[in-house]
Amino acid sequence: MDTNTFRRLGHELIDWIAAYRERMETLPVMSQSMPGEIAKKLPKEPPMHGIGLEGIAETLDKVVMPGITHWNHPNFFAYFPSNSDYSSVLADLVTAGLGAQGMSWQTSPAATEIEEVVMDWLRQMLGLSTNFSGVIQDTASTATLCALLCARERTTEFCQNKGGLQAEVAPLTVYASDQAHSSIPKGALLAGFGREHLRLLPTDNDHALRIDLLEAAIQADIQEGRRPCAMIAAIGTTATTAIDPLEKMAELAAKYNIWLHVDAAMAGSAMVCPEYRWMWAGVEKADSIVLNPHKWMGTGFDLTAYFVKDVQHLIRVMGTNPSYLRTTHDAEVNNFRDWGIPLGRRFRSLKLWFLILEYGVEAIQTRIRRDISLASWLATQIDTAPNWQRLAPCPLQTVSLRHVPPNISGDENALSKHNQAIADTLNASGRHYITTSVLKDQKIIRVSIASMPTQMRHVEALWEALQNISLSVFPLPKP
Ligand SMILES: *Cc1c(COP(=O)(O)O)cnc(C)c1O
Repeated sequence: MDTNTFRRLGHELIDWIAAYRERMETLPVMSQSMPGEIAKKLPKEPPMHGIGLEGIAETLDKVVMPGITHWNHPNFFAYFPSNSDYSSVLADLVTAGLGAQGMSWQTSPAATEIEEVVMDWLRQMLGLSTNFSGVIQDTASTATLCALLCARERTTEFCQNKGGLQAEVAPLTVYASDQAHSSIPKGALLAGFGREHLRLLPTDNDHALRIDLLEAAIQADIQEGRRPCAMIAAIGTTATTAIDPLEKMAELAAKYNIWLHVDAAMAGSAMVCPEYRWMWAGVEKADSIVLNPHKWMGTGFDLTAYFVKDVQHLIRVMGTNPSYLRTTHDAEVNNFRDWGIPLGRRFRSLKLWFLILEYGVEAIQTRIRRDISLASWLATQIDTAPNWQRLAPCPLQTVSLRHVPPNISGDENALSKHNQAIADTLNASGRHYITTSVLKDQKIIRVSIASMPTQMRHVEALWEALQNISLSVFPLPKP
């Protein structure tokens, strides 16, 4: 592609993105596409000769847009958000335009040094002490895998340099609640702990980890000759944003010499507001922390922040030092390739830098507070409306609810179908997008309020729609 074509098409696509964002609210939030529908629009074989990108905007409209769920839509209340502020769109454009590899300091000093500075800004924004150093990773799943690998290597005094886990005489165990994100069992399995040594403990009435069960599990494992290795505290679980008792977990971690990893993937962004930091009181005692600015803070996917206390340990576990990567400045600089799993690294820090430059800390705080207060408004509506039930505390921006019509109130199976029908009907309308989850055998509707353009009127409209639909799919046929 020649430069003039790039310039012309580039401007065209920026205009296309801006027009898309402007009309987003008029589009159905959840894609109504059926399986295979999008793939069918493409030829089965690649073109042998380039056809160029002329008319690519119309092709995007025709081929791609019907298969897009609009994650930045003001009526996106599903899962957790994946906000992608304009500042990130521009940053990603610059990242791709530079096309630089940031695996080592020397391969682009700016990529390393801007990452160091903005991760230190982020550390300050979260109220973390200088005991923590941060690095950007692709996702929380990867960061949690890193944490578990570091835990494994600490407990085994670097089994990877000997016979690995396969040569260990006593098995290592990992602890979390049964509400832990799927990335935790996945990470534990990938790190070789084995499912039999993963303790996913039942939770309390607020869906948080029970410290008594944790200590009992640790003691039982020790008694039976196993070695407790890692525990994961969820600050904001995915189903209901439940908050594990971090301070008490930290005491047990210290007492039994267990690695403490904090998974604050969603809730971590709220820690920019000092008044929410009670949620992770004890965090200073953690060995590692993960949060996803690509969820709530506004940086486009993917940008995960991984903070660790012992950088040297991380580098010892992750580092490689082949002759072809050595440079003269290695002793004075950070080579971030040694702070995680992949060798190659995109210039991701631009997104976080641009976001903070655009808004400043105060505006980010204001938006987080707005989302939490919108969720608290909705929680109040649920609490005061007849036949609606809230199934979990609402400390953040997620409301867990269900509709309980009196004639089926004792029938879990019917309630589950009824609430799934409410969600399906709402989503099919295209006006809103919510998701469901199962909590202690009860189907819940999850309303996550954290899309950047969401305002009060959108949450009010959602509540009205939920009520209307609950009446239209109720009453169920009587037996
Ligand atoms: C979303 C989420 C994750 C996983 O995030 P990825 O970045 O997609 O891997 C992990 N833990 C919690 C609590 C989450 O909400």
